[in-house]
Amino acid sequence: MVKIEIVLGDITKCPVDAIVNAANTSLLGGGGVDGAIHRAAGPELLAACRPLHGCATGEAKITPGFRLPAKYVVHTPGPIWQGGQHHELTLLANSYRNSLNLAAEHGCQTVAFPSISTGVYHFPLAMAAEIALRTLRDTAAATAKGVQLIQMVCFDEQTKKAYETALASLLA
Ligand code: ADP
Repeated sequence: MVKIEIVLGDITKCPVDAIVNAANTSLLGGGGVDGAIHRAAGPELLAACRPLHGCATGEAKITPGFRLPAKYVVHTPGPIWQGGQHHELTLLANSYRNSLNLAAEHGCQTVAFPSISTGVYHFPLAMAAEIALRTLRDTAAATAKGVQLIQMVCFDEQTKKAYETALASLLA
């Protein structure tokens, strides 16, 4: 069974097989966690992203981690919150499921995720946390069976609390 941990920290420092990047559809870098990952990985990451020609919302693409402690970066654009009637819930679940499956296909056993779409994309935090953890648990059980540890890396206390609450209700 996969272990899911909620931790406070900086995902660019995580010594895991793969970290997930809350990217945008261009895959050419941005602000927030995306900017932090590109800065820490070095310019080779942008050079590796360019020939990928972007990525659709909810899909995922993989590159090496270059100067990061992680071996791979899985890039996934989460949905921009537009009120909830534009497939945002499904697209967020797709981001988590496709990212975890892609990491598993590359032999990753440890995978770290940021809180996708809850920064500048404004997805409501409690709902995002519930979708994230349920999708990760179900995907690990169904298809990403080689993954042994999933870390949800929260950048602030409020985000960490939301994921802890969601994990408690998922396990209840
Ligand atoms: P999105 O565009 O998907 O909303 P953001 O990067 O704006 O992505 O925010 C997603 C989450 O990542 C937010 O909770 C933000 O605080 C967090 N974040 C920002 N930098 C880091 C980092 N270095 N490590 C982990 N999480 C981070």
